[in-house]
Amino acid sequence: MKEIALRIDVDTYRGTRDGVPRLCSILASHGVKGTFYFSVGPDNMGRHLWRLLKPAFLWKMLRTNAAGLYGLDIVLMGTAWPGPKIGKRLADRIKAAADAGHEIGFHAWDHHFAQAHIDSMSEKAMHEEFRKGVEELTRIVGYPPRTSATPGWRTTDKLLKVKTAFAFDYNSDCRGYAPFRPDIANTPLQIPVTLPTYDEICGRNGVNDANYNDHQISLLKEDTLNVLTIHAEAEGGKCAAMFDDYLRRVISAGYSVITLGEAAKRYADAPVGKCSPQPFPGREGWLAVQE
Ligand SMILES: [Zn+2]
Repeated sequence: MKEIALRIDVDTYRGTRDGVPRLCSILASHGVKGTFYFSVGPDNMGRHLWRLLKPAFLWKMLRTNAAGLYGLDIVLMGTAWPGPKIGKRLADRIKAAADAGHEIGFHAWDHHFAQAHIDSMSEKAMHEEFRKGVEELTRIVGYPPRTSATPGWRTTDKLLKVKTAFAFDYNSDCRGYAPFRPDIANTPLQIPVTLPTYDEICGRNGVNDANYNDHQISLLKEDTLNVLTIHAEAEGGKCAAMFDDYLRRVISAGYSVITLGEAAKRYADAPVGKCSPQPFPGREGWLAVQE
């Protein structure tokens, strides 16, 4: 069926301000739509700086040139002053993506906080992160998001249960190989991400900017749904020309680029499955992986 469901994660203030409009124009130039997952609360991503104290994270920062990729202002944001509220200041960018016909999903209220702590939060605190973010995103686009994606794929069964209180038709919370229905009451369909992200593979095993698209394209499967995650901070920034070239190549190879919502419609009777916390190549700590 040669399909790529395209997911765009937006983690930061600058990714929303600069990356989202750039990606909207790239997608428009190819006549395709994707699913944007927005973070709408404070941008405290700079608090990641504290994690430099950990050697694995320092190695990743050096390997992917994080300061060059994200910009020093992003790396520092939230360390010395409170992070700016993304939804409040950049509602126009988010609304413009919705108005351009892209699917709008919920990623996070405070991306940094959720990624670092969501697995240890109480159900009440988890619910509160979702409530604040979903309300803000609803205010901005004028309708509630029908899908969500946990920051950093840090998903647990407890979190999946908390999410059933929100009107999501499907979610994309884990890595895996095919859509499935989690074995938890009232939990909607999961659309796992099947392909690696730029920061996971670039700079490792001989993959670099010159051969990144060749490598990424070689991982596509023709007989199952491919799900790709890009980031507004990377493919909407430093990697924009490369991503533009990726779209040109996959479309001319006969792939349809679709939203996750379009894909979800066809997997209503997907088999029951499960995801669990596991280590993952190119990532620090664990993330939820389909079993
Ligand atoms: Zn994210």
